[in-house]
Amino acid sequence: MHFDVIIAGAGPAGSSAAIHLARNGLRVLLVEQKKFPRAKLCGEFISPECWRHFQNLGVEESMISAGPSAITETVFYSTRGHRVTIPSSWFGGPSALGLSRAVMDNVLLRRAQECGVSVLEGASISEPIIDGQDVLGFKTKIDGAEQEHRAPVTMDATGRARILTRKLNAAQQKSKAKLIAFKAHLRNTCVAENACEIYFYPEGYGGLSTIEGEISNLCFIISAKQVRRHHSDPEMVMRELVMKNRRAAYTLAQAEAESEWLSASWERFGPQLPSPARGLLAIGDAAAFIDPFTGSGMLMALESGELAATVVVRHRDKLASRASLASVGAEYNAEYVRKFGSRLRISGLLRRAAFNPRLAGLGIAICSVSEQLRTRLARATRTSTHGVGLSETISPAKAQRRKALPRL
Ligand SMILES: Cc1cc2nc3c(=O)[nH]c(=O)nc-3n(C[C@H](O)[C@H](O)[C@H](O)COP(=O)(O)OP(=O)(O)OC[C@H]3O[C@@H](n4cnc5c(N)ncnc54)[C@H](O)[C@@H]3O)c2cc1C
Repeated sequence: MHFDVIIAGAGPAGSSAAIHLARNGLRVLLVEQKKFPRAKLCGEFISPECWRHFQNLGVEESMISAGPSAITETVFYSTRGHRVTIPSSWFGGPSALGLSRAVMDNVLLRRAQECGVSVLEGASISEPIIDGQDVLGFKTKIDGAEQEHRAPVTMDATGRARILTRKLNAAQQKSKAKLIAFKAHLRNTCVAENACEIYFYPEGYGGLSTIEGEISNLCFIISAKQVRRHHSDPEMVMRELVMKNRRAAYTLAQAEAESEWLSASWERFGPQLPSPARGLLAIGDAAAFIDPFTGSGMLMALESGELAATVVVRHRDKLASRASLASVGAEYNAEYVRKFGSRLRISGLLRRAAFNPRLAGLGIAICSVSEQLRTRLARATRTSTHGVGLSETISPAKAQRRKALPRL
C-alpha cells in the first residue's frame, strides 16, 4: 500500500496525529511494538485540557464510559508534610481524569482504526531508512521478518526511546540512565478522594491518585544511584525513600500492590529536535520530555500530534516535492518552539527544586501564601507565553529564522 504518512509508536502522540491526518483524507500507517491494551508506566493523570482533544478526536464518550476518576485538585507535599494546592479548574474544565493508560491508549488506537488508519501491532521498528539528508521511512521486524515502510512523511512517536531520531545521530546513542521511574496500581491507600498528591523526598518525587475501579496509581522517580543502593527493589525504594515524605508515609502505610511494578529509565528531560531531518517529524516525548510533576506530558503528546498533522495537511498536495518537505519541517519546528518553548523552560527551572527537598519545601511555603504566584507558575507549565493557537500560521521565511530550540 502507498501511504502519505507513516507513524512509529501508538501512544497518545502517534494515535492522535494519525486520527487528525486520516480524517483529513491522508493515507496513514501506524506501527506499534506492543499489542494493545497494554499497561504503561505513567502517573495516569489526564490534565483537564486533554478533554478538548478527546472531543476533537471523537473519543470522549469511550473515555467516560471507562469510568475514570475525577481529579479536582493537585496537592504538592513537602517532605515535612507542608502542602500547596492547585485546583484543576485553573487549567480549564472542572476536573482532570484518572484513567489507566491501558484503557486510554487503546481507545485512541481503536479510534484511529475506525478513521481508516492502517495499524500494525506487535511490530518493532528498528531503524529509519535514510537517503543522504532525507528520511524515507523505517524498517520493522514482525516475528523475526524484516519489512520496509516508506512514505513522504515519517513521524517518530516512540516516546522517550526516540527510536528513529536517536539513530540519525551516532553521538546521540543512549548514555547511562540517571533516573529511574516505577509504577504500580495499589489497593488500600489513603489518598484523598478527587486529589492527585505529589510527594517530594530526597533525590526524587512521586504522585498518587485514583484511576478507574477505585484503584490508586503510584508512580515515582528516583535517582539511579538510590535504586542500585536499594537492590532495584521498588517496594524497598517506596518504603525507605518515598515514605520519607510524611504524607506518603501516611497514605501508603497499608498499601498493597494490585499489579506488577513497571520500571523505566532515562538520561534527561527537556527538548530534542522537532524536525531532525527532512521527511521526519518528532512528536510527543520523542520531541521533548516535559517533567512529570507538571502532569502535562500526555497533553503535550496530543498537542504536538495535532500540530504536526496540521502542518502536514497544509502541504498535503505537495508532499512528493523535497522543497515542500523542507517547508513542512521548518514550519513544524518554528511552531513547535513558539507553542512549547516557554513551558519547557519554566519546567526546567522548577525541576531544580523538584529534586531538592529543601528547595521544594521553600517553594511550597512561598506558593502557599501567594495565590497569584501559584496561578502564574501553574499556568506557565502549560500555555505558551505567546498564546499561539493551532489555527495561527507562520510564514515559511519566519519559520526558517527560528530554527533552534532553546536549551534548558
Ligand atoms: C514517571 C512518569 C510519570 C508520568 N506521569 C504523567 C501523568 O501523570 N500525566 C501526564 O500527562 N504525563 C505523564 N507522564 C508523561 C507521559 O507518560 C508521556 O508524556 C506520554 O506518554 C508521551 O506520549 P507519547 O505518545 O509521546 O509516547 P508514549 O506514550 O511513550 O508512546 C510511545 C509508543 O511507542 C511505542 N514504541 C516504542 N518503541 C517502539 C519501537 N521500536 N517500535 C514500535 N513501537 C515502539 C511504545 O510501545 C509506545 O506505545 C509521565 C512520565 C513519567 C516517566
